[in-house]
Amino acid sequence: MSKVKTSNRTRIRRVPTRAVFDREILNQILDEALICHLGFTDNEQSFVIPTLCWRNENRLYVHGSTGSRMLKILKSGASVCVTVTLLDGLVMARSAFHHSANYRSAVILGPMHHVDNETDRLSALEHFMEHIAPGRWATVRAPNNKELKATDLFWIALDEVSVKVRTGDPVDDVGDMDLPVWAGVIPIKQQFGPMAGAKDMQLEVAAPNYSTVFGQRWVNE
Ligand SMILES: Cc1cc2nc3c(=O)[nH]c(=O)nc-3n(C[C@H](O)[C@H](O)[C@H](O)COP(=O)(O)OP(=O)(O)OC[C@H]3O[C@@H](n4cnc5c(N)ncnc54)[C@H](O)[C@@H]3O)c2cc1C
Repeated sequence: MSKVKTSNRTRIRRVPTRAVFDREILNQILDEALICHLGFTDNEQSFVIPTLCWRNENRLYVHGSTGSRMLKILKSGASVCVTVTLLDGLVMARSAFHHSANYRSAVILGPMHHVDNETDRLSALEHFMEHIAPGRWATVRAPNNKELKATDLFWIALDEVSVKVRTGDPVDDVGDMDLPVWAGVIPIKQQFGPMAGAKDMQLEVAAPNYSTVFGQRWVNE
């Protein structure tokens, strides 16, 4: 089992038993998440901006317009904090205090690296699209030079990372166990589909079948 590299800055202090060091679990969280929240500081002010993300091996990528403030800050080499959160359930306890959430989350620290080579940018974008919708890249019009120039890409190494996971039932006090209150978990699942074709489609094109990509999270109707 390959281990998540942590540090004094990413050591989990509250409920450290929920810390996870299995890199496979980190990878699953990042691959399922699709979005991260990217925290950075600009002139004394902290910002946390939601943005799409995708993983390739030991790197997490983000992209956006070259004009974006966030990407300009990233280009300066500033250290950032990237968080990724999957909310899996609401945990209903017998006492108000012990209500909780089931989740899988990761925090990644470090500088972001600019993808400055055009070939690498193109291949990272292809990887992004293929991660979401395998086979799609070959069917769409590829980015032209102008579009590529307008798009910036950055990656952060998955080197200074913490992963925290909560699963299972509420943990109630022994003295509360016989209270007449329903206790358990309300599961939360991200769902994809059914597909909604664009209203301005001019040709009849069969909808691709992405149901296998999203597995049980795919909804047909
Ligand atoms: C799910 C999701 C995915 C996204 N994916 C991408 C992506 O892949 N690439 C990308 O470039 N952008 C993405 N965005 C948009 C992104 O969150 C920013 O809005 C965008 O980067 C704007 O940059 P900016 O430089 O114009 O804004 P900034 O100059 O950074 O923002 C100015 C101010 O606008 C407000 N603001 C900015 N963004 C948001 C927001 N999303 N919601 C509420 N207030 C906001 C804040 O108050 C901020 O201080 C995504 C947003 C969401 C919600």
